[in-house]
Amino acid sequence: MELIRIPALNDNYIWLLADADHQCIIVDPSESEPVIKIINQKKLTPVAILLTHHHNDHVGGVPQLLTHYAKLPVFGPAETAKKGTDHLVTDGDSINIGSFYFNVIALPGHTLGHIGFYQAPYLFCGDTLFSAGCGRIFEGTPEQMFQSLERISALPDDTLICCAHEYTESNLKFAHHIWPENEAITNYLHLIHTKRQKLEPTVPSTLKTERKINLFLQCNNSDLQKKLAIKIDKPSLRATFTLLRQLKDQF
Ligand SMILES: [Zn+2]
Repeated sequence: MELIRIPALNDNYIWLLADADHQCIIVDPSESEPVIKIINQKKLTPVAILLTHHHNDHVGGVPQLLTHYAKLPVFGPAETAKKGTDHLVTDGDSINIGSFYFNVIALPGHTLGHIGFYQAPYLFCGDTLFSAGCGRIFEGTPEQMFQSLERISALPDDTLICCAHEYTESNLKFAHHIWPENEAITNYLHLIHTKRQKLEPTVPSTLKTERKINLFLQCNNSDLQKKLAIKIDKPSLRATFTLLRQLKDQF
């Protein structure tokens, strides 16, 4: 398999996964032109579009792609029905096309219907988990987002976090602000800053890395809880997560 990352719009990534037969799936095409360009360059045959949620910066390129590649199936949650999806999928479904076999995982929080697509080691998680951060909670509750991150966290260490935005450096600045003594976060911030100075991408990340540098996956860490000065005797993980997310929104 070859994983291809296509920069789009301001800070979006569109993902392509191509197999040995040059068939590929397209994930969250915010635009069509850069996708068509890469498909032509690499002589790929698209076999499906996968959509994680309904926001325009994830589905904007669908109509043009469907004009270009007739009869291309589009898989997505019910909230994407008006965005071109003709195969509605939900938690527990699998998508089997050629050598692709994706499990659909419900990841509500950013939007109510948000889903992820997992085929080891690739996780296309849209706007749920970002490198060093997580998505804003627009439609769901902190409880839902926390549970969605827990589901991702249950995947193996070598899972590739294929998220839809280049937000890593700003997420790390927030993490460093909250927890300046955390060496893993400080070191990673320096590494990522250097990469971004050269305009290099910082994703996919691995779940192993995220467990070390992503505050939202460390809500059970008592040092982090102390940092947040949570004034509860035994802060619940959910309370820690909710406070972190509020602080990030205000940062
Ligand atoms: Zn979104």
